[in-house]
Order: sequence, then C-alpha cells, then structure tokens
Amino acid sequence: MNIYIHTLGCFKNEVDSSGIATILRSSGFNVVEDINRADVVILNTCGFIRPAKEESISYIWRFIERKRKTGVRLIVTGCLAQRYLKELFDEFPEVDAVVGLGNIREFPNIINRVLSGDRFVKDGSLDNLLKFEIDRPSLVYYLKIADGCNNRCRYCAIPLIRGNLQVKNPEEILREVEGVLAKGSRELILVAQDLTSYRYKDYNLVDLLKDLNSIAGEFWIRLMYLYPSRVDETLIEAIANLDKVVKYVDIPLQHIDDSVLASMGRPGREVAERAVRLVREIPDVIIRTSFIIGYPTETQTAFENLLEFLSRERLHRVGFFIYSQEEGTPAYELGDPIPDRVKRFRVKRAQILQEKITLDFHKNLIGKRFKVLVENKLDRTIDGCKIFIGRTYMDAPEIDSRVFIKSEEDILGKFVDTIIERLEGYDFWGRLWRD
Ligand code: SF4
Repeated sequence: MNIYIHTLGCFKNEVDSSGIATILRSSGFNVVEDINRADVVILNTCGFIRPAKEESISYIWRFIERKRKTGVRLIVTGCLAQRYLKELFDEFPEVDAVVGLGNIREFPNIINRVLSGDRFVKDGSLDNLLKFEIDRPSLVYYLKIADGCNNRCRYCAIPLIRGNLQVKNPEEILREVEGVLAKGSRELILVAQDLTSYRYKDYNLVDLLKDLNSIAGEFWIRLMYLYPSRVDETLIEAIANLDKVVKYVDIPLQHIDDSVLASMGRPGREVAERAVRLVREIPDVIIRTSFIIGYPTETQTAFENLLEFLSRERLHRVGFFIYSQEEGTPAYELGDPIPDRVKRFRVKRAQILQEKITLDFHKNLIGKRFKVLVENKLDRTIDGCKIFIGRTYMDAPEIDSRVFIKSEEDILGKFVDTIIERLEGYDFWGRLWRD
C-alpha cells in the first residue's frame, strides 16, 4: 500500500511528517515521493494564520480533485485539522479522515480504518506531540526539542493549537542525535516554538548545547526561534564559544514599538534592543528576525519607529508577516482596523529598505572564504562541471541564501571551503577553495 505525505507550514511540521513516515514504514506501508503512485494521501496542514489556512484549504480541494479522478483516499492532519477538526469533517465530505495532532503513532490504524471504508475524525492528544521516532534522517536534520508554548503573545493561535510547552528528555535527544549523525546528518537545526524556554528539571538549553557540541564529528548546530527576554549572557557565551554552534541567531522580535509590543503581550523595546546588543557580542554573528506588520494598534508613527530601527540596526536576515486576526486569540477583540492595502504598502516599504541592507551586506562578502554545506545538485552542467547548491553558516534552509558551486568532483553532502565570487539576487556563486 503506497502512502504519499504532503507537508505544509514550518520546520516543526516537517518533523511530524518524518515521524508519520517512520511509523508507517515500520508497519509495512510504502511511503512514496510520487503522488501518482499513492493509494492514500496524507496532507499535513498549517493553520496558525490566514494565508497558511487558505493554502491548506486550497490543497484539500486539490487532493479532493485527485480523489475524484483516481479514487485515492485522503487524510487531513496537522495544525488546521487540530484547530478545526469537526468543521473540516463537515465541510469536506470527501475527506476520509480528519486527524488531530499527537496521533503520529496511530497512523497505521488510521490508514487501515480508512482503507476499510470508515470515515471519521480522530481527536488530537497533545501529550504525544514529542513521542515518535525518525528512521531516515536527512543531511539537514530538524531536531524538535520541545513543542507547544507557555508564552501568550496575544495575536498567536499556536498555544490554542499545540497547547502548553512540552520538552523532550535530554537523554532521548542525545540518543536521537547520535543516531542521526551516524546515519549521515551534518546539520542539526534545533526547533521549538520558543527554543529558549527549553528546560528539563535543572537542565537547560545551554546544557544541551554543551552536550551536543561534545559529540565527535564534523557537523553544525543551528538555533531557530529564540525569545528576546530569555537571551542572556550565558546563552550568548555558549553560542560564541561552542565550535559546532553556528554563529547564526534567529530571534523573532515581531515589532519594536513599545505600545505595539505591550498590546501584543510581548517584552518591550528595551528588552528587544538589549537582546540584539548581546547577540552582537558573538563574533561574525548573523542575526535573523521577523516582524508582524499591521497589528491593530500599529499607528503610522509606530511603523516609522520600526523603519528607523531597521535602518539603524542593519540586521542581516529579516522576514515580514502581515497581521492576521485569529479567532480565539486575545488580540481578536481588537478587530482588524488597518486596511489590507495599508498593511501591504507598509510591508513593501519595509522589504525595500531591508533588501538594500541585506544586499549591501552581501556585496562585502565577495572574495571571502566560507565553509559551505553542500546539500543539492542541479541537473545541468556549466563548462563540463556539475552545479552544486549549499549554504554557509549565515543561511538557514528555505528562508535564507544559497551558494552555487561548479565542481568536477562530487561534493554532495560535504563541507567544502568556498570563495564567494559573485551575487545572483539573494544567492551567491562561489568557487572551491584550493590550497
Ligand atoms: S512565542 Fe511564538 S509560538 Fe509562543 S505565543 Fe509567542 S508567537 Fe506564539
């Protein structure tokens, strides 16, 4: 029986899909990459903001179309399913099962029930969000060390969907990491809703970083989603001094204007600026952050404050999201007073400003030498050379820049020293460093 899994949303959803694939393979199912070979399609949805919900819904329709043509069975799971279990079941009678979060180990039974013709919903069990294995780790491995969140940012639906913070036992994490490194992973990307809130009894994120760093072998450790008020000297020291931890810090600030941050229920400007100052103490550090534009209380002045902050701080990697009014969140009561065209115009202004800052930074990298993790290869060749794609420590997968390298020898899966030769949009072309 062939099962095809389609994943939407964040890195954490990728991890869940790998968990589903693992349990299905261990139960004798065949997990296929080609949807045309599928008997059952599992759609792992995202559901925390409007654009993500709309994308998930469009994929449900797309797979219903496929079901009408091919008779393939359709299971919808993930955050949208968790949030709207009954609604999706009633709204889409052609969906065979709607499955809440935390059911990864149940998927063999779920598939068998669907194949036997049952149509059902399966409630989520959030206690099991971290309870699954992954059998085929990739070169770049997303290491989910916690799930859920105890912060209560007023615009955010994630605590409603994934519940309160749960953390993985450090022994389990270290065993998991030993396993995936032995199977060829060369980059560990630590993910959670808020990585800095990781604590298992007296064991915290810094303890974990030290233990991961002490594992033998050549690999990178990358941190995503740090919460500003929990960025302290000890963490900064660990990132700066542990050689396997890449000097890349992802710290979503969401806004910089004090009144907006207060209304969001987030730490104030002073805390955010202090966190950025601390992070800058790490030599050659790359700072990634993200901002929400168009939050109900964002005045023109508040937005100008954000632009001023961007111009002054000149951060390296910045994402902008349009505010999405989400039912069930405390901010929902504020309505959505800022017209979409104003939100889009503000995002455009911010993006134009940030694009210049990032590209100016990139121009200064030409001629410099960086270690690149090579993770892909293009089908075509140039001058008889294959073209490989990798990333420097300055770039997380999918959201940051890539480096294209021509090479006669096969360098896939390797760390290679590379000289940046030129820019191509946000990406780079580099040549292999030869001693
Ligand atoms: S820290 Fe992130 S996941 Fe947690 S409530 Fe805030 S925005 Fe949502």
